Amino acid sequence: MIKKVLVANRGEIAVRIIRSCREMGIRTVAVYSDADRKAMHVLYADEAFHIGPSPSIDSYLNIDNIIRAARLSKADAIHPGYGFLSENPAFSERCIKEGIIFIGPSPHAISSMGDKITARKMMQDAGVPVVPGTGGKIESEAEAVSTIREIGLPVMIKASAGGGGKGMRLVYHEKDIKSSLRAARSEAKTAFGNDAVFIEKYIQSPHHIEFQVLADSHGNVIHLFERECSVQRRHQKIIEETPSPILTQEKREEMGNAAVAAARAVDYQGAGTIEFIVDKDLNYYFLEMNTRLQVEHPITERVVGVDLVKEQIHIADGKPMTLKQDELKQHGHAIECRIYAEDPENNFMPAPGKVTHIDIPYGVGVRVDGSIYEGIEIPLYYDPLIAKLIVWGKDRNEALDRTQRALQEFKIAGVRNNLKFLERIIQAEDFIKGDYTTHFIEQNKEFLMREDACDQLCEDIVIITAFIEYLKKIEKASPKEMTALKNNWKDYNRIRSVLKL
Ligand code: ADP
Ligand code: ADP
Ligand code: MG
Repeated sequence: MIKKVLVANRGEIAVRIIRSCREMGIRTVAVYSDADRKAMHVLYADEAFHIGPSPSIDSYLNIDNIIRAARLSKADAIHPGYGFLSENPAFSERCIKEGIIFIGPSPHAISSMGDKITARKMMQDAGVPVVPGTGGKIESEAEAVSTIREIGLPVMIKASAGGGGKGMRLVYHEKDIKSSLRAARSEAKTAFGNDAVFIEKYIQSPHHIEFQVLADSHGNVIHLFERECSVQRRHQKIIEETPSPILTQEKREEMGNAAVAAARAVDYQGAGTIEFIVDKDLNYYFLEMNTRLQVEHPITERVVGVDLVKEQIHIADGKPMTLKQDELKQHGHAIECRIYAEDPENNFMPAPGKVTHIDIPYGVGVRVDGSIYEGIEIPLYYDPLIAKLIVWGKDRNEALDRTQRALQEFKIAGVRNNLKFLERIIQAEDFIKGDYTTHFIEQNKEFLMREDACDQLCEDIVIITAFIEYLKKIEKASPKEMTALKNNWKDYNRIRSVLKL
């Protein structure tokens, strides 16, 4: 019986996991780096252990220190969240060796799915369609040229160990093959320590549609339907929704069955995601499997009515799943917006800093998973994802209206963020029509980046509210503190111009 879980992660996902543990009566242990001493997951957990300096390589990726914290706290299980060590087979192996339950699949499943070339082969053997491309690793430039002649341009050269949208090169012209191959290889080597690359046909104007799966240790495998994740920037998801506006019931069933077959092929246990790339004629191809909880898992939770973290813990505990495929249904429609501390007007540069004011939206159908509060300093060391807005409606139209309303209520001051950008996506004609591909952001750049009076007004309200807080502080400040406050206040000049001072 799992009684105490160490969460080997930070940010919104650590808080989200702790919440489910608390509901299950399971004690929780947080781990934190120097920069995260005051982070929300540290405040939320029953216990917290310092695991090293701010850079993740010294803390959230430091296996020895995390295991030490687990032993000191006598945690019987570790939840890895997403990112960091969640897809590291050496970490899950080490947990097993230490007698600690790893809340996730076996090291074998992680390593075979973590290597895209191996994964492609296993899926082909299991009868799951994969993107046309090479069988194995590309050994030479000559091999790259001849393969590409066979499958036809355009193609993608991809890192076998790739992840997070990195290590991909799109090739349109034969003359670019050699240079792209070299670039993809060296990028793969630097980012993933492994220069193995393979070649895949580039699917034109595609959709990214993925299926959530759950598998227990008793041979039960189910899928919890799809998530449409085609709103992407640089191959990274920004907004996800379920159901997908383009799938037919028949295709949904077919792809769901393929996802279950894919999970069975690796003897999967736990929660996982089968990602497919889908063309305009609804031909679908296996892209990769993510052997962990996904950032966008809450939209599935909302529409299917499950708590995926609880399911993960039950499965890790060796219990048989009580969910039955034919009893699962999609109820209504859910949309998730990823809120980043980044500056859309400055090429989406991460924008760390102090959150001086925050208004979180409430009301019917709204869920916010986050890790920020007023006064917190967002560190520059980690992923700039600071919150997720998950909205449910009885149908897609209601979900869209509600997302718009919630985004308008959402205010974050002190750090630049993408709230306005998200609102514009929700207002874009192609998005409203549900007719969009992975090229949506690129194709709607002008509309998405435009400034308008309404946006400016909202922004001004946020700034003025923050300014009132600032004035309150100044009232009590000594002259010396006042100079410091003035120097610290990044938007000081902007406030002056808004208030016409
Ligand atoms: P999802 O499909 O759940 O959106 P992502 O692929 O965007 O997942 O990754 C989830 C998190 O893990 C992000 O914070 C991302 O930056 C990080 N991540 C994913 N793959 C890697 C990797 N290979 N190396 C480092 N970070 C990664
Ligand atoms: P990662 O491990 O970085 O998540 P994926 O293989 O899942 O890599 O691909 C990430 C994204 O890149 C996809 O969601 C899709 O937008 C794009 N992509 C990847 N492969 C192809 C392809 N063969 N054709 C078109 N787009 C692709
Ligand atoms: Mg992917």
